[in-house]
Amino acid sequence: MPEIHRKLSSIEKICHDSECSEKIASLKPEHVTLFKTFTYCPYCAEELTLVCQSCREQLNSSEFKYCPWCGVNFADAETVK
Ligand SMILES: [Zn+2]
Ligand SMILES: [Zn+2]
Repeated sequence: MPEIHRKLSSIEKICHDSECSEKIASLKPEHVTLFKTFTYCPYCAEELTLVCQSCREQLNSSEFKYCPWCGVNFADAETVK
């Protein structure tokens, strides 16, 4: 039987620089929310990459509702408590 239930995940913004990634990973939750609206890395000015938090594959749109690679459901940020 196919899985009807979709796993929930979210789109993550990452910087390819590992030093930036560490800084981003240690951000406070309220800063993470703000960070998600950024286009460029605030630490090195490189363009941020969107990835699926579940499978880490790169996404080319932040409008995606589901991951095209692993099928997780990206919960709408506004509906997340
Ligand atoms: Zn960076
Ligand atoms: Zn995925």
